[in-house]
Amino acid sequence: MALVGLVVALLITLVWLAGRYEAAQVQSRLERDDANAVDEIRSALSRNIQSLQAIQFKNPTPAIWRSDAAQFLREHREVLRIESRDPQLRILHFVETHYRPAGFDWLGRNNAHADVEQACSTARRLSAPAYASSYYLPLSDAQGAEVMELCMPLMNMGQLTGYLVTTYTLKGILEDLLSSQLTRSREVSFTEGDGTRLAVLGSAQRSNRVFSAQQILDLPGNTLVLRMDSWRGEPELFPNVLTALVAAMSLALMLILWLLAKDMRRRLKAERDLADALAFRKAMEDSLVTGLRARDVHGRITYVNPAFCQMVGFSAEELMGQSDNAPYWPPEFIQEYKQRQAIRLAGNSPPREGFESVFMHKDGTRFPVLIIEAPLINAQGEQSGWMSAFLDIREQRRVEELSRASQERLQATARLATMGEMASLLSHELNQPLAAIASYATGSVNLLHETTPAMADLELAMKRIAQEAQRAGKVIKSVHDFVRRRDQTHEAIAVQALFDAIMPLIQLQARKLSVIVQQRIDPNLPRVRCDVTMVEQVLLNLARNAMQAMDVPDIRHRRLELTSRVSLQDPRWVEFFVADIGPGISPDIEGQLFTPFFTTKAEGMGLGLSLCRTVIEQHGGTLVYGPNTPLGTVFSFTLPADVLASPVV
Ligand code: ADP
Repeated sequence: MALVGLVVALLITLVWLAGRYEAAQVQSRLERDDANAVDEIRSALSRNIQSLQAIQFKNPTPAIWRSDAAQFLREHREVLRIESRDPQLRILHFVETHYRPAGFDWLGRNNAHADVEQACSTARRLSAPAYASSYYLPLSDAQGAEVMELCMPLMNMGQLTGYLVTTYTLKGILEDLLSSQLTRSREVSFTEGDGTRLAVLGSAQRSNRVFSAQQILDLPGNTLVLRMDSWRGEPELFPNVLTALVAAMSLALMLILWLLAKDMRRRLKAERDLADALAFRKAMEDSLVTGLRARDVHGRITYVNPAFCQMVGFSAEELMGQSDNAPYWPPEFIQEYKQRQAIRLAGNSPPREGFESVFMHKDGTRFPVLIIEAPLINAQGEQSGWMSAFLDIREQRRVEELSRASQERLQATARLATMGEMASLLSHELNQPLAAIASYATGSVNLLHETTPAMADLELAMKRIAQEAQRAGKVIKSVHDFVRRRDQTHEAIAVQALFDAIMPLIQLQARKLSVIVQQRIDPNLPRVRCDVTMVEQVLLNLARNAMQAMDVPDIRHRRLELTSRVSLQDPRWVEFFVADIGPGISPDIEGQLFTPFFTTKAEGMGLGLSLCRTVIEQHGGTLVYGPNTPLGTVFSFTLPADVLASPVV
């Protein structure tokens, strides 16, 4: 801004100075011309005096005098009249110019006598030609003129013989004695000391600025002031070439300054952007954990980032310019690495996904690295080398090792857990068939002790023992399959058949707990598709829970209801209900009912309900419970009917 201000000030000063310089030029030229004009007039007047003296030479006869004087008047338009006078100033003869109307005919010559006398007395005193003060002479053409008398004393042998009086018009002097280049486009005038104009040549156009110069024309006997007025034409912004040039150059300078400032701003911005980009790049490189190394086409290292230096333990200075035998190559691999480098320099691209290699730290430790290489392309699109990224994969290897070990441990634990789960489920589910076997066996022994054993009952008990033992075997297999999450074998089975299979066990327990079992099974039910043994276990568990819930002294007429019907919401499902009239489920244990190992019973395992729900959900169904009316609990679950086009699970 300061620079621009300075240049503007400079420009204004230059224009002003140029204007002033031009004015001073005009003024000094005017003064010079004025002085020249005075000189010209003075020398012309003295030439005239010589010519006049020539007329008077050798006392010419009046006729000759007249013809010479007339000749002189023809050649000198500034002279009005020439007179020859005797020493008493009486006119002897005279000649008048033809160029102007004669003034003296009209006014009489005596009018001017005082002036003539003044000039001649001065001339006499000086013994040389002298002038009188000018005076106004009205002419017959009503124009009039300012005239001035010149008196030349005529001497012969030291005696005054007479006078030659010449009348000049001042205007004529200006018109005829001055060269035209001095008067062109100027106003030239004779003035008196007080500025009154006596005669004017040309007329000054009054405009803004008028230059003016005055010179004194000192003639013997009279002093005139020659004044020159010049004017400047229309005022112009750039009065001359110099000013215009200076202005144009200043403008050009301003333009250049402006362009320079613009360019500077752009450059500064570019520099700032570049610095930002560099700082960003540097920060990025420094923060990288990936080592970076650039090599030129001859394999010399041209760049390494801090991460690379840290990785190999050498400083950037130690690594720069290295090509063969890089210090981080383990000596045992040098040959192999050299071959690899040769292949690379021959222009063969490495695999995109990178390759593994071994580097050596400065302290001698070897470590595995993953190298990803890519050609380095310069701004001209030519390959200028290779850029490689290095990942220290020690940590990765360690993590892989750790993960493998923990995977193995996990598998071992999983196997143990499976075993535990199986053992606990088996112990839960085998309780019932084993209890049944034990009770049939006791019954059989009691029968044998009788004197006449009822063979039919004994046979039935033995059959039941065999059935329950088989059942126990099936339970073991089913639980095993269930725990190992194998594909269970789903088969279509009539609902009645499901109930029939478990009824002896239920009855056994019902009798013990004095519970009446009621079945309400729709005979038209479709068959259900399920893992039969596991669903039987579900029914058994729910029935047993229900009966156990009613095993409190204040409940009489204990009744267990087993119901099955087609789902009202979706006929593709069959619903099972196990209802009791026990005390119901208190709200504080509701949330934990299905949690494995949750039980409120002294000898309970707390696995029954969680197993039931898992089994039902594996069939695609749901297991829910709610209060029974008027009292007790109803557990219900759904199983897919066999009518389904495709198995649900
Ligand atoms: P367990 O029978 O070994 O206790 P379950 O998982 O079968 O384990 O049952 C968990 C708990 O749920 C039982 O201890 C009991 O308190 C409660 N429960 C189950 N069925 C009923 C029911 N029909 N009425 C009342 N409480 C029940």
